[in-house]
Amino acid sequence: MIGWPDGAQCAVAFTFDVDAESPLLAVRPDLADRMTTMSQQAYGPEAGVPRLLRVLEDCQVRSTFFVPGYTARRYPGAIAAIAAGGHEIAHHGYLHEPLAGKTPEEEAVLLDQGLEALHDVTGVTPVGYRAPFWELNWHTPGLLADRGFLYDSSLMNSDDPYELATGGGSLVELPITWTLDDWGQYCYVPGFSGTGMIGDPASLSALWRDDFEAMSAAGGLWILTNHPFLSGRPARARALQGLIHHVAQQSGAWIAPLAEIAAHVRGLGLAPRELSRPVP
Ligand code: ZN
Repeated sequence: MIGWPDGAQCAVAFTFDVDAESPLLAVRPDLADRMTTMSQQAYGPEAGVPRLLRVLEDCQVRSTFFVPGYTARRYPGAIAAIAAGGHEIAHHGYLHEPLAGKTPEEEAVLLDQGLEALHDVTGVTPVGYRAPFWELNWHTPGLLADRGFLYDSSLMNSDDPYELATGGGSLVELPITWTLDDWGQYCYVPGFSGTGMIGDPASLSALWRDDFEAMSAAGGLWILTNHPFLSGRPARARALQGLIHHVAQQSGAWIAPLAEIAAHVRGLGLAPRELSRPVP
């Protein structure tokens, strides 16, 4: 169990992945021809981000936004507004490329392209990384540590953060879970993702609230992940606002951007943990 600042019972981060068109284009470049599909993805930076920034400001919560380099270059105004709002900008690939099958050399190029784009648009050198599609390669943590990243937020094996051994160094790992991601409930992109059975905000908020309360009792780290093209829609953003207000009212919940949570964990001086690849 982690000791949280000021005796807090648990740590909480409300995070956003500003994917926009990038995950579609990384897997299916032909989807660029589909104007309506592209417009659904553009809703994220164009309408979702401004609305969610207002929600966060209303709740007085600072957040972490994971931004593919391509999104930053295509929507520099929206991404600069996130940084100007006091939120953390973190790395999420260049074109949200799936990492499976990529060599370390190929991945290094994408990491560096993403770093360059985020720096060009916001002046920020990110300290945090989240793998596109939440799928790391076993060699990815070492590439991140080599580049000075403080933390990753892509693994699912723990309620608590830990130091992940990277072979020469370590990286703070801030674990996540698909349960706390809006994609499965809200995302429908014809011919690409989802079944068309679109979840309703009240049910999703109830699921997340219950999950928060259980994690709070367990003393762990609760990370919620939303996508502006999905949860930036009015009814969903309104439900999210209600949930953030609920969590913020709990005196035992420490709400912070992931970089601050990772810095706290780094300060604990935990012994790095080795994760080993199973041999089939
Ligand atoms: Zn993503």
